[in-house]
Amino acid sequence: MTIAAGTAPLEVLERVFGYDEFRGQQAAIIDRLVSGGDALVLMPTGGGKSLCYQIPSLVRQGTGVVISPLIALMQDQVDALSAVGVRAEFLNSTQLPDERRRVEQALLDGEVDLLYLAPERLRMESMLGLLDRLDIALFAIDEAHCVSQWGHDFRPDYLQLSVLHERWPAVPRIALTATATEQTRHEIAQRLDLGEAEWFVSSFDRPNIQYRIEAKDRPVQQLLKLIRSEHPGDAGIVYCLSRKSVESTAAALVAEGIPALPYHAGLDASVRQRNQARFLREDGLVMVATIAFGMGIDKPDVRFVAHLDLPKSVEGYYQETGRAGRDGLKSTAWLAYGLQDVMQQRRMIDDSEGDRAHRRRMQAHLDAMLALCETIDCRRVQLLDYFDEKTQPCGNCDTCLAPPESWDGTVAAQKLLSTVVRLDRERGQKFGAGQIIDILLGKSTDRVRQQRHDELKTFGIGTELSDTEWRGVVRQLLARDILVVQGEYGTLAIGDSARGVLDGSETVRLRREAPKAARGRGGSGA
Ligand code: ADP
Ligand code: ZN
Repeated sequence: MTIAAGTAPLEVLERVFGYDEFRGQQAAIIDRLVSGGDALVLMPTGGGKSLCYQIPSLVRQGTGVVISPLIALMQDQVDALSAVGVRAEFLNSTQLPDERRRVEQALLDGEVDLLYLAPERLRMESMLGLLDRLDIALFAIDEAHCVSQWGHDFRPDYLQLSVLHERWPAVPRIALTATATEQTRHEIAQRLDLGEAEWFVSSFDRPNIQYRIEAKDRPVQQLLKLIRSEHPGDAGIVYCLSRKSVESTAAALVAEGIPALPYHAGLDASVRQRNQARFLREDGLVMVATIAFGMGIDKPDVRFVAHLDLPKSVEGYYQETGRAGRDGLKSTAWLAYGLQDVMQQRRMIDDSEGDRAHRRRMQAHLDAMLALCETIDCRRVQLLDYFDEKTQPCGNCDTCLAPPESWDGTVAAQKLLSTVVRLDRERGQKFGAGQIIDILLGKSTDRVRQQRHDELKTFGIGTELSDTEWRGVVRQLLARDILVVQGEYGTLAIGDSARGVLDGSETVRLRREAPKAARGRGGSGA
């Protein structure tokens, strides 16, 4: 590219990228870097983060070095830049030595505007030595939340990145992320040594996305209904937790005449690449995927993102749903979740390899996600509050459109808790939600008779609610830490917040389960 150093950013925006004006805080961020300052940028997915480092890299003397964990996307990014005449290259472990040497030579010849680097490259002294010999315009640290151990996407190689400031103190740095709580922001600033950086925090709200969360009943049927009634022929992403459910869900959609493709880490790299390319290029495809899919995917017209399993954290949920509606048009973020999800995730946390602190963090993430699912307030208010942004009820989420009825669940909670307590105290037993609910409903199953649970004082004291309603009660009590699940069998125990409920000093307001038939956009009172 023949951009003279010092050209005005706006001119570069027009001449190179073909846009007339900057969006949001782009101009201010670019000015900050061009004048040699550091920046910490928090901007939602689709907000336009890339230009914030691409333009300063062109305007400043030398090569802009972009650290990105998204190796799979580097080729695409470089191709897109080359198409508009920007000299971009990448260096990562997927390259052959010859190719790597060619890039290194181009760098030394001063013929590269932007260099994409995988973070692990910076562990290599040879790489650092190469950078020493270059004129570096800036360092951009993309997906900066990966440096946070508190966050949901920690990458140890990111801890290395403090080397940038130590070794090249005069080179301006910009850290960018689409997801960060207040705590994560501070962690990014601290670990990357960005104490002097100016913070640019954009609103995280995505007003065109309608957030909806419902109880999981027959998930594939629920998904089909969503697609057929609201998104026929639209492109969408369906997230599932396991590879197996990705496969079976994609097959079920195809069998119902909906063009769907699977994507998960167990597929051949070539199949993954082909499916991703088709999803990006063709219209109206549904990608059924694990969370391995999507980081850095820029498809503007994804009309819906559906989750068939509970995400592990609000950050993850927000990032995944953020892939809908980048073009600003109406889109849907839809999640179905059930008690089974909570049990499963609890088990995964117990089985996970990390230390106690790590498990506590995972549990805190899960708790926040559950609280979002079970809220009777506006989803958007709750979601943005998680990112420390205050807002008003939105009018464009399920709880705003059809406010859930709430009811006084204190007595129900007491019945449930005292069953759990009695089993423990009188029998030394712990059971899962299914058995507890059978006891409350007074069901004389084989297991109930065998365990003589029909002799418990609480046997049959909960017939005022249905099985489904009791499951809703259990979920909500879990979300509030009144109940907890334990162990490999997902047994229930009373939680830290149970005391006030048991002694009657606290009331519990619960949300009424929506009847199974009446679901859908803007449906009147569920
Ligand atoms: P992010 O990295 O924040 O998710 P991108 O940098 O990929 O977002 O930008 C999202 C989309 O918005 C891209 O298609 C990009 O070309 C477009 N875009 C960014 N800035 C502008 C602008 N100032 N004017 C018009 N389109 C823009
Ligand atoms: Zn709302």
